[in-house]
Amino acid sequence: MPTMKLEIVTAERQVFSGDVTTIIAEGTEGQMTVLPKHAPLITMLAPGELVIRKDGDEQYMVISGGFMEVMPEKVILLADACERSDEIDLERATAAKQRAEDRLKSITPDIDQSRAEAALRRSIARLHVAEKRRRGPGYRPSV
Ligand code: ATP
Repeated sequence: MPTMKLEIVTAERQVFSGDVTTIIAEGTEGQMTVLPKHAPLITMLAPGELVIRKDGDEQYMVISGGFMEVMPEKVILLADACERSDEIDLERATAAKQRAEDRLKSITPDIDQSRAEAALRRSIARLHVAEKRRRGPGYRPSV
């Protein structure tokens, strides 16, 4: 199967570098599937799940927003933060979700609602990806 090079970097580290056959990412306009020789483009990514495939192997990651540059032979993903499914700290994500929900419930003038909503999306994406890893590829979250 044809492959393309994928590099995922944050300001802190290189999260992934290797050859892959498929990338499924959450663009701000919806889910995108990228295959080798895709037309060049640059797009913004929403906080959410990233799936990469090679030789029948599927890896899950969480991206908390960023940019993706697609070229025919190479894709570069610049992420605000990114964790592989095995790096996700479940307790931390659960606490972050609770905090964001509490903030959204107690709407007062000093609450930045969009910030709390973004934190909620990140925590939910982390929990989904960690759960997917635990349950296997067929698992589809209900929330
Ligand atoms: P928290 O409130 O728990 O810090 P957050 O959504 O505000 O969560 P980010 O700003 O997205 O966190 O990320 C800050 C750093 O912490 C990044 O390096 C990110 O990869 C890491 N990180 C955040 N949450 C988790 C988690 N649940 N498990 C592992 N790493 C995490």
